[in-house]
Amino acid sequence: SIDFKWIRDNKDAMAANVINRKTAADVEKVVQLYEQSCHLRGEVDKLRAERNAVANAMKGKVEASKREELIEQGIQLKERLAGLEEQLTKISELLYFEGQRIPNTTHPSVPIGPEENAVVRKQVGVKREFTFPVKDHMELGLALDLFDFEAAAEVSGNKFYYLKNEAVLLELALINWSVAQLTRKGFVPLSTPDIVRSNVVEKCGFQPRGQNTQIYSIEGTDLCLAGTAEIPVGGLYMDQIVSNSVLPLKLVAFSHCFRTEAGAAGSATRGLYRVHQFSKVEMFIICCPEHSEAFHEELISIEEELFDSLGLHFKILDMATEDLGAPAHRKFDIEAWMPGLDRYGEISSASNCTDYQSRRLNIRYRPVSEALAVKKVKGSLPPLQFVHTLNATACAVPRMIISILENYQQEDGSIIIPEVLQPYMGGLGFIRAR
Ligand code: AMP
Repeated sequence: SIDFKWIRDNKDAMAANVINRKTAADVEKVVQLYEQSCHLRGEVDKLRAERNAVANAMKGKVEASKREELIEQGIQLKERLAGLEEQLTKISELLYFEGQRIPNTTHPSVPIGPEENAVVRKQVGVKREFTFPVKDHMELGLALDLFDFEAAAEVSGNKFYYLKNEAVLLELALINWSVAQLTRKGFVPLSTPDIVRSNVVEKCGFQPRGQNTQIYSIEGTDLCLAGTAEIPVGGLYMDQIVSNSVLPLKLVAFSHCFRTEAGAAGSATRGLYRVHQFSKVEMFIICCPEHSEAFHEELISIEEELFDSLGLHFKILDMATEDLGAPAHRKFDIEAWMPGLDRYGEISSASNCTDYQSRRLNIRYRPVSEALAVKKVKGSLPPLQFVHTLNATACAVPRMIISILENYQQEDGSIIIPEVLQPYMGGLGFIRAR
């Protein structure tokens, strides 16, 4: 449930936040609708009390003329109540619709403005020096027979691809390696459904419909293709009260991601960079509110460790307000150097969504230790609170393949396999022309 009272009480700050994040939300309208709904709810409660009083009065001994009067009053109250209840339903639906557009609050340290205002927090590694002209992943991969975009365009459409030969082994190695690293750190592995209900998509803060939606939906149903594992993983805990003793819940999910990429254009779409379907390993944490900032830091340091052990050069960015999307309170992206594309490219994203998703998905916990909860009498327990949720990319396969092919290319067009992946590829050390 969205905290409309809080939004009303912090109306100016929320309106400024909407402007900073360049979101299509109308705080004023939400506040007006909220006040209307409070007023209507008060009226409905009053009428219900009157109707009950009339019903009670009829239960006793009543003179015939008085009974007639009470019956008439009862009929009128019922009609007025039905009218008001209908109005209240309409206002509540509108309030929900407008309220969904309001983005999460923003961490005070987040830089304000567009993408280019992101602040570099840290750089890891250095750009590799090449002694020969570099090729991009498309040139390298096509020469090594690692993918087929033309056949995929015929079979599925543009921006789909077949991975072939060692690229398939590389994809599987990347998935197995990243899941293994995370399970070793205590994350619980999950493999999630590719198809999800549109209300779950919405509750995670994504728009399943509309002109520029990134989400594919299945005609004639209320089902969508999941854009990220964050959606089915969040959905797994929907409407649950999570025991305090199991927090934090640390999960690592393997999934396929489907994206329309509406509005994406230009050189950033070449080859595997921006495709409609890809495999991804995603970390997800559910924790109590006071720990989410620390877990955000932990997620970034895990990403740093993973990408550093692959030998990549990258920078960690504190993303600016206009790039946060609706659910994130703060977001750190990692951009790796892609020498063939001759630029840095985003390889991961780590968001602290605070209580934005948990309010909508209704995931709560009781902030006391289990032992204390057992001893206390029910009424005196502290109230249930919403958990915080965080998500972060461990391995988005296509951009990892780009990074590896372009950074590990040799003069003869062969590719060295990063050492940490070799055990996951049956000991293969190179990809060479056959
Ligand atoms: P997001 O869930 O949008 O934060 O994306 C997570 C990661 O997936 C990004 O950091 C990219 O590495 C990768 N990614 C996102 N969209 C695409 C796409 N259309 N094609 C390939 N990789 C993508």
